[in-house]
Parts: sequence; structure tokens; C-alpha cells
Amino acid sequence: MKKNIIFILLFFVLTCSCVGFLAGEGLAQENTPAQNGEVQWWWKKDKARDSEQGIPELKGGSEADQRVQEPLGLDELQARYPDTVFLHGPTTENRVALTFDDGPDPRFTPEVLDVLAEYNVPATFFLMGARAEESPELARRITEEGHVVGNHTFWHPDLVEEGDIETLVNEVTRTEDTLANIIDYRTTLFRPPYGFLYDELVEELQELEYSVIAWSVDSLDWQNIGPQEIAQNVFEDIHPGAIILMHDGAPAEEDRTETIESLREIIPVLQEQGYEFVTVPDLLNIPYQR
Ligand SMILES: [Zn+2]
Repeated sequence: MKKNIIFILLFFVLTCSCVGFLAGEGLAQENTPAQNGEVQWWWKKDKARDSEQGIPELKGGSEADQRVQEPLGLDELQARYPDTVFLHGPTTENRVALTFDDGPDPRFTPEVLDVLAEYNVPATFFLMGARAEESPELARRITEEGHVVGNHTFWHPDLVEEGDIETLVNEVTRTEDTLANIIDYRTTLFRPPYGFLYDELVEELQELEYSVIAWSVDSLDWQNIGPQEIAQNVFEDIHPGAIILMHDGAPAEEDRTETIESLREIIPVLQEQGYEFVTVPDLLNIPYQR
């Protein structure tokens, strides 16, 4: 009996010291000063991200680097916040929405707009604030041609990796202010970079009265797979109410010509199948201005 008590006490002492050691290590890491010895302000770090060509870079890295990770359960977040997070529209009507991320990009956005105009198809563009600031005329052209604009953060950070609530609020409100100055309305649509979010961020977005727009069809157009395969990815997963994810913007070293070419196949084929293209707020029957 006595032996047992000693054994149990020993077990607790060992366990506590081990937990204490781990906790201590965690704290030590958190308290380590930033590598270059100064505090890493989010806006200061961002300044260094402007590419040489003057196209503001995606702070969280390219899709190719990031999306190898599984997106963090947007479907779970949708189930938890059904009035805030949307993956698709009603599956009862043959309506679908094309969406384009990471622009406006002067290299590719004009041609995407040309193709959409050619087929008379509206779309929804989730813009980076930094890029809209750089190319305001393109952001304006997007809305003038009947498309809808959403908020895709200012610098495109990985909100799960480095995003606290403060970063999210800064990114979102700065973008909202920037866009409002250019397009004369405040958008209520938000799409998280890489689709990365977690509960507390969704709750903050809910507070800010945003609708979080995810997608149900991923074209994987950033993978350099050729226009046919991009279109094939869309055809394989298409369904009534689909929100289709594509990109009109790219990191400096990447190209979106394949996206533009694939649209010339995707749009007419889906129209032949009886699908009508609408904007995201039309598809979901939600407001997009405040
Ligand atoms: Zn993006």
C-alpha cells in the first residue's frame, strides 16, 4: 500500500516537471525576439513584399506553396456558421458563379474581363487591397462592366499561420476603405486567402457583417496543368449552385494565361449544359453592399 502511494507520488512529480518543462519551452519560444532584433509590425513586414515589377506580392506565398496543405475544414465552418460561411448556392436551380481571386492584376485581369464581356457573363472578383491601390482603374472597370467585387485582404496573408484577430481586422478594414474609395461602395463579401480560417476569425467577420464566400468547385488553375485540364476540373465537379474558384491575379513569377484560355471552353460548354452564370450575391440571394 505504502509502496503504491510512493509510486503514485513519483508519477505526479515526474508528470508535473515534464509539463512544466514543455510549458517553459513554449514560453521561451514566444518570448524570443524577432530574428532581426526588432518587433515585426505587420505593415512594416508588408512593405518589403512589393515585387520589383510593382505588383504587390501575396504575403502568405503563392497558391502553389500554400495549397499543398489541406484547407482547414471550410465545410465544417460552414456547418457551424451557416448564415456567414457559404460554399455554394441553392442546388435546385441551374445557376453557377465564376469567381476570380488575387487581382486586379494588370497582366491578366483585362483579358479575363474581355472574355467575360465577349460571352456577356457576370462574375465576382475578390480583390487584394494592395493590388487595387496599385491598379484602381482595373478595379473600377470590373464594377463598370457589371461584375461584383469582394474583399480578399490587403496583403493576402495566411490568416491561420500568422493571423490574429487584429491582423484580420487591419487587413479587412484597410481593404474595405481602399475599395470604397475606388468603387464607391463597401463590399460585404469576403474570401480568406487560401481558404484558411478558424472559428474566432469567422466570428469576427460575422461581427463585421461580412459573408464569407468559399467555393464548391476548384479549377486548380494555379497548378500549370493547361487550359484543357483546368476546364476538365470544372466539368467534373460542376453542379447546380456551384461557386467556381479561379484566379485572375498571380505572384510575379506566375502566369494566368491558361485561366483565360480555359474560360473560352468552360463558359460555352456550361451554357450548352443549361447553366446560367450569375454573381455570388445573386446566386446566394444576399446583399453585397453596405
Ligand atoms: Zn488568394
